[in-house]
Amino acid sequence: MIYVVGSSNTDMVVKSDKLPAKGETVIGGEFLMNAGGKGANQAVSSARLGGKVCLICKIGNDLFGKQALEQFRHENILTKYIATDRTLPSGIALINVDTEGQNCITVAPGANAALKPEEVSLGMEETGSDDILLVQLEIPLETVRFAINAAHQKRTRVILNPAPAQILPQEIYPYLFAITPNETEAELLTGIRVTSDPTVEQAARILIDKGCKNVIITLGSRGAYLRTSQGGTFITSPSVKATDTTAAGDCFNGALAVTVSEGKPLEQAVAFACGAAAISVTRMGAQSSMPTRREVDQLLF
Ligand code: ATP
Repeated sequence: MIYVVGSSNTDMVVKSDKLPAKGETVIGGEFLMNAGGKGANQAVSSARLGGKVCLICKIGNDLFGKQALEQFRHENILTKYIATDRTLPSGIALINVDTEGQNCITVAPGANAALKPEEVSLGMEETGSDDILLVQLEIPLETVRFAINAAHQKRTRVILNPAPAQILPQEIYPYLFAITPNETEAELLTGIRVTSDPTVEQAARILIDKGCKNVIITLGSRGAYLRTSQGGTFITSPSVKATDTTAAGDCFNGALAVTVSEGKPLEQAVAFACGAAAISVTRMGAQSSMPTRREVDQLLF
């Protein structure tokens, strides 16, 4: 089982010719409402690719929360540990996108910010050495730490996607089977500006020195860099025409968790995750862009 502990949001997107400046109102065009949140996105990615997924998150007692819950069930995601906050609203993201694809985003975390350690503890009690914990940083760090510690005690492998970027306490690193920053997150965690192959390798080595078992730095259209105790290797992503890279990282992490849970070697797991994420960037949206297993197999094999 893949236990995803993280956020669930509803993304509200307005497209317009230009982004509003401070104090300005612009008349936009298309309005889209998409299911999002890194935890939920990664859970959907894993589930579509054939993983057995249990999502542990917190929603509000409102329409957005109910819609999200319905969507998770539709994706065959186990929802029994999803908590509902009595007073806070479900998380939302207000997203403005201009014609060049530039965006500005405001997130109101709502119930996500109130996901407490005791609300993930029941789910974590079920985990064992065949399971995976997949976790990100859109929920309180205290809860992330709790989940990671609990997983460690149960010998459950932990994949941490350190997004959005924030400094992590040192004691987390030795408990990580894998950490999966993008270039910006890797820079924040290591102090190395990741701009070239040698700097990618340098940043990955620092994360290994901090105690992570394996490091995977995602590199956008280039693919990803994998560093294990055996050494490092660049793994390319299939070349595709990208239309929307929203949640490419989430797709990557969900796919990685599935293949790791199947016992595949990490190099194969990363190549599979690159394939899945490459498909996701050819489509609009977050959860709506996640591919099925058959689609990834068709692309790669
Ligand atoms: P996002 O914030 O957009 O979700 P991210 O910054 O977390 O993404 P990236 O490194 O940009 O993560 O992308 C994750 C993975 O998606 C990459 O490792 C790669 O496999 C795939 N990917 C991203 N962009 C492209 C692209 N243009 N073509 C092919 N694959 C891509």
